[in-house]
Amino acid sequence: MLADSYGRVATDLRVSLTDRCNLRCAYCMPPEGLDWLPSDQVLTGDEIVRLIRIGVTMLGIREVRFTGGEPLLRRDLTSIVSRTAALEPRPEISLTTNGIGLARRVVDLREAGLDRINVSLDTLRPEVFRKLARRDRLPDVLSGLEAAAAAGLTPVKVNTVLMRGINDDEAPELLRYCLAHGYELRFIEQMPLDAQHGWSRTGMVTADEILKALSSYTLTPDDARARGSAPAETFLVDGGPARVGVIASVTRPFCGTCDRVRLTADGQVRNCLFAREESDLRAALRGGAPDAEIAARWEAAVAVKLPGHGINDPSFLQPDRPMSAIGG
Ligand code: SAM
Repeated sequence: MLADSYGRVATDLRVSLTDRCNLRCAYCMPPEGLDWLPSDQVLTGDEIVRLIRIGVTMLGIREVRFTGGEPLLRRDLTSIVSRTAALEPRPEISLTTNGIGLARRVVDLREAGLDRINVSLDTLRPEVFRKLARRDRLPDVLSGLEAAAAAGLTPVKVNTVLMRGINDDEAPELLRYCLAHGYELRFIEQMPLDAQHGWSRTGMVTADEILKALSSYTLTPDDARARGSAPAETFLVDGGPARVGVIASVTRPFCGTCDRVRLTADGQVRNCLFAREESDLRAALRGGAPDAEIAARWEAAVAVKLPGHGINDPSFLQPDRPMSAIGG
């Protein structure tokens, strides 16, 4: 079991498949991109599947989410999904993606065993998309979303980050669009994880502001759905059954129920997006360590998980790695 000293057990593994991305979202990375990891440092498909197998068969991992960077940039994604789906006990498998190229690949991913999908969509306005993501790819994202729903990955979840003065006036419009298409929208508070360290508390659009912006809808807390360890606080929209969620990592932290553990594309275990420490599983893997030794290292890494992310502590220091290199 991946237990920490505060009684939490990690059962949800977030696997970053690459630190590369084909967008340059302003809250994530600078326009020129970043120095990507050298390819020999990135785990191979076999290495990733071996670590997932150890997590699932020896350490109690029940859910595996593939993320990045942009996971669709990995050509071997479908094979990684199908090999993960073949594990016993079979974990739930999900994907977080910007949707570019998804329309071409989603049927194969579904057939390989993908259970759920989150697609990031911050705006419905092409000119805002160009400004925020610094690429002209809104139609690709929208067609990716439609293809995911057509492939049966329902309800498709949509992740939105609002930035003040850029897209913070679009909350009702985005919700209307998602309701019309049967997608479940969740707003994510902007977190201090951008490579250029441009985040500021006053610049961040808070959960309270997001909910106020949606005041033309009647939102009631979704008591029927136990929140458990879910990051999103969910609300029924106009009596339901449609829902909207808010992930308020900064203003309403939920670290006490966290069941997540992260594996970076270069094989480092991280207990939190904001962790300043990592544990190197790649060295053990490439040094010929048997499964039991890797499992023991992983357990030791999670055992020292801190009680919270500390964003609101005066001593908070942003982690060295940006979101794209950790896996969101
Ligand atoms: N490329 C994929 C995507 O766009 O969904 C997966 C990786 S991305 C890092 C995962 C999620 O993190 C996206 O929904 C993105 O909007 C969100 N994200 C990135 N930087 C963030 C930040 N500084 N604060 C909050 N969310 C952020």
